[in-house]
Amino acid sequence: QRKAALAASSGPGATSDGHRVPLLANIGGPADVAAAVAAGAEGVGLFRTEFLFLDDSVRAPSQEKQVETYREVLAAFPEGRVVVRVLDAGADKPLEFLTPGDEPNPALGVRGLRTLLEHPEVLRTQLRALAQAAEGLPVHLEVMAPMVADRQDARAFAEACREAGLGAKFGVMVEIPSAALRARAILREVEFVSLGTNDLAQYAFAADRQVGAVSRYQDPWQPALLDLVAFAAEAAKAAGKGCGVCGEAASDPLLACVLTGLGVTSLSMGAASIPYVRAALGRHTLAQCERAAAAARAADGAAEARRAARGVLSGE
Ligand code: PEP
Ligand code: MG
Repeated sequence: QRKAALAASSGPGATSDGHRVPLLANIGGPADVAAAVAAGAEGVGLFRTEFLFLDDSVRAPSQEKQVETYREVLAAFPEGRVVVRVLDAGADKPLEFLTPGDEPNPALGVRGLRTLLEHPEVLRTQLRALAQAAEGLPVHLEVMAPMVADRQDARAFAEACREAGLGAKFGVMVEIPSAALRARAILREVEFVSLGTNDLAQYAFAADRQVGAVSRYQDPWQPALLDLVAFAAEAAKAAGKGCGVCGEAASDPLLACVLTGLGVTSLSMGAASIPYVRAALGRHTLAQCERAAAAARAADGAAEARRAARGVLSGE
């Protein structure tokens, strides 16, 4: 029965009453594109460009090398949407030539956009490579920055995009609680936000995502995390702009319905999860997703939130 449901699941993501929620893929490079296309991804919601930088421990890849790699990915999604994240170095993704090795607490140090603002030449080269890679292609290129804490960060990234002559939409990731709380101000600088729920959980619960002993806090069903998602989604709705989720949370079919009910406008995940999320969304109306979201937020703790949402969605 499950197999039949998955086989029947194809086409664009939507609730049973037709509320569209584009389903996008998380990829690390051209090698992941075939699986994304096979799963029916409507595009890419998170292209983690770090992998391209891991080959060389002393310098960033040349602009030419970057253009080649980005073009390969962009060409695979004609008319589709591809959201490229600029380099997210530091903490769990250290790069020898960029990441300071002497920080007592790397997750709270110079990482993500902070690294790029200290090395503007690396950001400039990447943005120019992206602009060049998209030339002449019908793809909708979007570019976003990781680890944005406030409006000043968002403005600095927007300025860098404009200076590089990038004709793409630009946005920022919301993965620090301050950015979720102030999403309204941040959205005055950029055109969309995308929630990185892995880091958002890490910073909301002060629990290192790499430390097994505190892994229970990494559960994306935590109502406090859902509150932060709701905050950002409401701000995006008021601004008439997109609010995606590209963290692990989006790959849980039940939670995907809850995120939709919270007002998230697109979901990006590993390709293997797309058919399951598509099938789950297609079984419920937007109003049911909204009721499940309200029940999850009203719960005490992650386990209860999951139970409450399941109760709403299976009881109707
Ligand atoms: C996140 O933090 O949720 C995210 C999508 O980015 P990464 O897992 O690459 O840090
Ligand atoms: Mg992150």
